[in-house]
Amino acid sequence: MVEQALIGLIGGLSWESSAQYYRLINEGVRDRVGGVASARSLMWSFDFAEIEALQHVGDWGALAGELVVAAQALECGGADFLVLCTNTMHRCAWAIDAAVKIPLLHIADPTAQAIQAAGLTRVGLLGTAFTMEQDFYRGRLADRFGLEVLIPEVEDRAAVHDIIYRELVTGQVLDASREVYRAVIARLVERGAQAVILGCTEIMLLVSQTDSSVPLFDTTALHAQAAVEMALGGPS
Ligand code: GLU
Repeated sequence: MVEQALIGLIGGLSWESSAQYYRLINEGVRDRVGGVASARSLMWSFDFAEIEALQHVGDWGALAGELVVAAQALECGGADFLVLCTNTMHRCAWAIDAAVKIPLLHIADPTAQAIQAAGLTRVGLLGTAFTMEQDFYRGRLADRFGLEVLIPEVEDRAAVHDIIYRELVTGQVLDASREVYRAVIARLVERGAQAVILGCTEIMLLVSQTDSSVPLFDTTALHAQAAVEMALGGPS
């Protein structure tokens, strides 16, 4: 039997994407190990209604506290490392880093590494308004990986954000919203984006490579793949 680290997943952010993580991580381990192998994992799953309410009043202190409770519970449960299954809540990654001894696999890192490996430097970013507009995510991409990050214009940002919170986290995947995303991606490409980051873990439910003329970097898939590699002790 292949030795595997125990993955601690912080999910429910939303569960629509946590389900994708769970599938992708188990598929990834089976592909690498073969047979009936599957991933060893624990998942803490939030009620997203509580999280969304705190996000929209900007109470990032309370949100950090919620994440710390989850991270410590997973550490106590024996997790060897943590995967926070969302881009937005990485705004509070610092609080997790400070509260536990096990490492947090930051979602921006495997994403940026994949972009670098593709030889690209100027990328568009789609995500919640928090992810697109605040510095915690763009700053990491720029400072640690030297990426130039373009975000959509203000009306496009509002549309991208609203589709996430009104539709994707509630399981609605609408053709009309896919058209909106296609147009936003096209405008980022016109402005010089060589690639676009799907920087919200539910966007992959709506958009795929056929919706874009430039490469898309899906944070859900890249983060899940990095978790598999970390659990199995490195890339294959
Ligand atoms: N899953 C989303 C993300 O990756 C948005 C939901 C949330 O705010 O956590 O940013």
